[in-house]
Amino acid sequence: MAGSTRQLSDLVAQARRYGVRDEAVLEAIGRVPRQRFVPRRLAAAAFDDGPLPIGEGQTISQPAMVAMMAEAAQLNPDDRVLEVGAGSGYGALVLRALAGRVVTIERRSALAEKARAALASEGLGEVEVVVGDGTLGWPEEAPYDAIVVTAAGPAPPPPLLEQLAPGGRLVIPIGARHGHQHLMRYTRHGQADGDGGDGGGNGSPGQEYREERLTPVRFVPLIGTHGFGPGR
Ligand code: SAH
Repeated sequence: MAGSTRQLSDLVAQARRYGVRDEAVLEAIGRVPRQRFVPRRLAAAAFDDGPLPIGEGQTISQPAMVAMMAEAAQLNPDDRVLEVGAGSGYGALVLRALAGRVVTIERRSALAEKARAALASEGLGEVEVVVGDGTLGWPEEAPYDAIVVTAAGPAPPPPLLEQLAPGGRLVIPIGARHGHQHLMRYTRHGQADGDGGDGGGNGSPGQEYREERLTPVRFVPLIGTHGFGPGR
């Protein structure tokens, strides 16, 4: 074996090295063609386990990180998922390979358009790409079984906590705008109680949510109403 031809299985091996054990997640990483979500001139680097520039100062996430977040979201095949930060669309397709319905929201319309085009040519099922401030969530399709945020915020945005179904998971990097951040998981307690009420969400990670600190990470800033301000 020449050993020089890099491929998707290299990304699977890297995700394993990062401790990802969920076989469905590893299989998704081995199946979603990352090379179609990076700029053409960087296609050769698509199988390196690192972030890559996708324009507008943004990056396609490191595949091992995408895998860790997908594992942390504890997805089931019928789950409804919201991704915040579509970027290239790659992460959304990984989530789509693991869940039933995926909506991904992107604040930069030029990126959203490119992500939509890249996703349209893939056969893993439909992903809806919408444009807006994802710190407000996407109430049109709430509640979600999982919300995965691919940019780092100062605190969990209350609308995202509110848009979780009972038992739903919010996976989000929290910390400094540039620097020290941790991947966090907020799990909403309880089963659907069917009382027809509004779910009683107060949008704060108090006793209604279990908070877990998972691992140190480094992401681009989440910019918006419940994120950081615009600018660098
Ligand atoms: N999941 C992407 C990662 C993109 S990087 C991928 O696999 O390629 C994070 C993205 O979050 C950037 O595209 C950035 O524009 C976007 N973003 C930042 N703040 C946002 C917000 N409030 N709402 C929606 N998208 C946001």
